[in-house]
Amino acid sequence: MKQFQILYKDDEGFLEKLKEIKEWRVSHSGYVTIFRIYSEDMELEHIRHICDCLDDEMPDALYLGCTTNANIIDGALSDAKIILTCTIFEYETTQAKILQLPFLEENAAQDAAALKECCDANPWVQAVEMHATIMDMSMMEFCKEMSRLREDIQVFGGGAFNPDMDDDRAMVFSKGNGFLEHGIIFLLLGGNDFHTYSTFIAGWKPLKRKFRVTKADRQILYELDGKPALDVYRRFLNINKNDRFFSNTLEFPLFLEHGDIDILRCPLAVNDDDSLVMSSDVQEDAVVRLAYGDPETILASIRQDGQEIADFGPEVIQTFSCAARKAFWGDANISDETSLFNSVAPTTGFYTHGEFLRIKGDMLNFNVTLVLVAMREGDMPKTDQKVNIAKAQIDNDNNEKIPIIRRFVSFIEASTAELEEMNQRLALNSITDGLTRLYNRAEIERRIRSALDKRTYQGTCNDISLIMLDIDNFKRVNDIYGHKEGDCVIQALSDVLRNTTIGLDSCFLGRWGGEEFMILLSDSNADDAVTLAEKIRKKFASVSYETAGCQTVSIGVTQAKDETADALYNRVDKALYMAKAAGKNQVIRLD
Ligand code: GH3
Ligand code: MG
Ligand code: MG
Repeated sequence: MKQFQILYKDDEGFLEKLKEIKEWRVSHSGYVTIFRIYSEDMELEHIRHICDCLDDEMPDALYLGCTTNANIIDGALSDAKIILTCTIFEYETTQAKILQLPFLEENAAQDAAALKECCDANPWVQAVEMHATIMDMSMMEFCKEMSRLREDIQVFGGGAFNPDMDDDRAMVFSKGNGFLEHGIIFLLLGGNDFHTYSTFIAGWKPLKRKFRVTKADRQILYELDGKPALDVYRRFLNINKNDRFFSNTLEFPLFLEHGDIDILRCPLAVNDDDSLVMSSDVQEDAVVRLAYGDPETILASIRQDGQEIADFGPEVIQTFSCAARKAFWGDANISDETSLFNSVAPTTGFYTHGEFLRIKGDMLNFNVTLVLVAMREGDMPKTDQKVNIAKAQIDNDNNEKIPIIRRFVSFIEASTAELEEMNQRLALNSITDGLTRLYNRAEIERRIRSALDKRTYQGTCNDISLIMLDIDNFKRVNDIYGHKEGDCVIQALSDVLRNTTIGLDSCFLGRWGGEEFMILLSDSNADDAVTLAEKIRKKFASVSYETAGCQTVSIGVTQAKDETADALYNRVDKALYMAKAAGKNQVIRLD
């Protein structure tokens, strides 16, 4: 495929360029020809004029386009308000088709279904490039429907935008379909000799600390960990509600966990209730982490991950980059991200309002991300023709001084990891008995109460049983062999409890106090509990301790009725007392 790139400055230059393209087509074998038009110029008449020129000069060429926040041409931020690319396929087998539809939240899923129908009718389709106006729309239903497309179809694209990030107006248009302020264009591409590879790079890195989305609705993030979402920015980053909120949070957007993919979401504004207006949907119950953007780290990621694009041997590279990235870098530096790719193949695209990429069949809506698409006709070039963009980075890394921000991040991450480990240890200690490592009294009581509550309030109908154990004549063990030997016997019984219940789900072991133990079986009836109790009794009695010899245990068993925990404890305690009174070393069940 051959690509021409056009900066539209005036008609004279434009028509000159079209003439050159037409001549090229005469002297080469050019087949399907597609123009993409990206316009920062919001004047409909200006865009219409360009479309008219194309209709007149090259009536057989397809075209499509949208308004944008800014444009990328020759791998760099364009200074022309309107750019065009002209892609000419050089294989007769390559096919293209444009589908333009009105696009509103209520019919977005239908549009996706219409696309599916079109793809099903055209088995040659391998890739779908999309341009859509998506302002204030929840894309959830649309993405869900798009995920139903044939598994092997790649989808990529971007949201049309406006050069003014605060202005919601945008437009899409294509040949023969007119101009839509709420529209979507699908460009279907494929054929036996057409190959494409699409990927995404964020470059922002997640910090370890996780937060749970406890309240969200579409693009409004109300609460993280039960507190107003702004709290996270205020507490951890000292970012407050003020005019600079968007630019401050741009360095620290949120990573949203989506399976094994992290998707960036950017807080755009704060509401009065300290909820955040995010750049796209956020799902309740999702896990998010703060991300940090550091120029050196971002560039390193791009060089590293971008190598796959270079390795594909593309003839054309399409980019859909978030307008927030441009805001982050500033006009003077933004091209550092994309210029690298222009040494591989002509790189063009635009700054979007949201990026789209289908990954493993799943249609995802990204923000703050760079979506890259490599396209090629024919075989992959031989290895020695490939451009190595990652190598430049590795050479650089060895010489380069590591930026201070990376050192700080590494410090924060190490501290967070240490704290997390300590927290886990503390949490475990607070519910564990020191001598036996079984649950302590408070924890086993909590679990018994929660099992009873679940049955009462959630209507679960499982049987709950308790087994209470007490070592027989234990005072004598202490008196004769000493307290230390007594401890060993207590530990030996807890080992017997553990070993006998290995693999038993819904079984919880606790030390009730002294030489007394409680077993909660949250899904067993009294019959099963008695069987287990007998097993434990026999096993414990069969162990002979070096100093203390054989010891025994008395056991009470009962099944919970519709009653309080206290009533249940009383009955199991009574059963245990009866076992003692009946001569010890036995199991008594009390219903
Ligand atoms: P019974 O068969 O009626 O249960 O007789 P017993 O001697 O076991 O009953 P009692 O409850 O009077 O004695 C329990 C003893 O357990 C008293 C206490 O000193 C001892 N004990 C409690 N906690 C521990 C401990 O952690 N380690 C040791 N070594 N002994 C303990
Ligand atoms: Mg006792
Ligand atoms: Mg005892």
